[in-house]
Amino acid sequence: MSRYAYVNGRYLPFRDAKVHVEDRGYQFADAVYEVCEVRAGHLIDERRHLDRLERSLHAIRLSLPMSRAALGVVLREVAARNRIRFGMVYLQIGRGVARRDLAFPMPQPAPSVVVTARALNRARLDALAAAGIAVVSVPDNRWGRVDIKSVGLLPNALARQAAIEQGAREAWFIDKSGAVTEGASANAWIVSGESKLVTRRADHAILGGITRSVLFEAVEAQGLVIEERPFALEEAYAAREAFITSATQNVMPVVRIDGRTIGDGKPGPVATALRREFHRFAESS
Ligand code: PMP
Repeated sequence: MSRYAYVNGRYLPFRDAKVHVEDRGYQFADAVYEVCEVRAGHLIDERRHLDRLERSLHAIRLSLPMSRAALGVVLREVAARNRIRFGMVYLQIGRGVARRDLAFPMPQPAPSVVVTARALNRARLDALAAAGIAVVSVPDNRWGRVDIKSVGLLPNALARQAAIEQGAREAWFIDKSGAVTEGASANAWIVSGESKLVTRRADHAILGGITRSVLFEAVEAQGLVIEERPFALEEAYAAREAFITSATQNVMPVVRIDGRTIGDGKPGPVATALRREFHRFAESS
């Protein structure tokens, strides 16, 4: 099936979808992005994703290049043209094309806007969730503002590759105090001995995940308690359960960390229930 992308105002066949060599997103990672889940052809949590997009843009001193409603139309159009029933849309907005110079170009060029979409293999994701995944820890060597969803993902790519080379699916970043910050592309959670859900507070050291924020509502409905605090890698090794959250994986149980078995080595009841419940609390546009 042919694929389409939206590039700076035009829907193009994938092979013609290109950006300029002096695009600042390409040269400096001077761009931010969002990834939304598509389910039964609907965007999941569009409002929250666009809220976060506006926060990211504001943090890098850009603004929305079109209205939220127009952007929503483009996201849905790209999903529809690519016939995505179950998958994701990717949106990237950058400072545009200018002579290579760190300082912001003046006058401000038109921002670069790119939207792509692709299908995800739902059966494969469900099979992974049924078995649980392995993660490995890596030092968190990222910059101090990872709450901005910037396309500067080199540390994340290196961490993910390290995980794969060790037979794991995800890497967990560990800060200087020995606490887990988050995954290479997901937020990190554990279930403590007292059956509380522990996840780090969404400050500048993690990305405030949309799935994470939806889960806050789902957890409450389950009568569970969340403790927002850092947790040490050692605490994670000894946790009852562990899992990660992201828009494309929803709630994904973790059954091994650095080769150590978590709980009884199977996805736990809390993560399994939250995965089942997730879409009751997520909004579908
Ligand atoms: N942290 C990082 C570093 C990520 O890349 C992602 C995925 N976008 C997340 C957390 C999870 O965020 P969300 O639930 O919004 O997908």
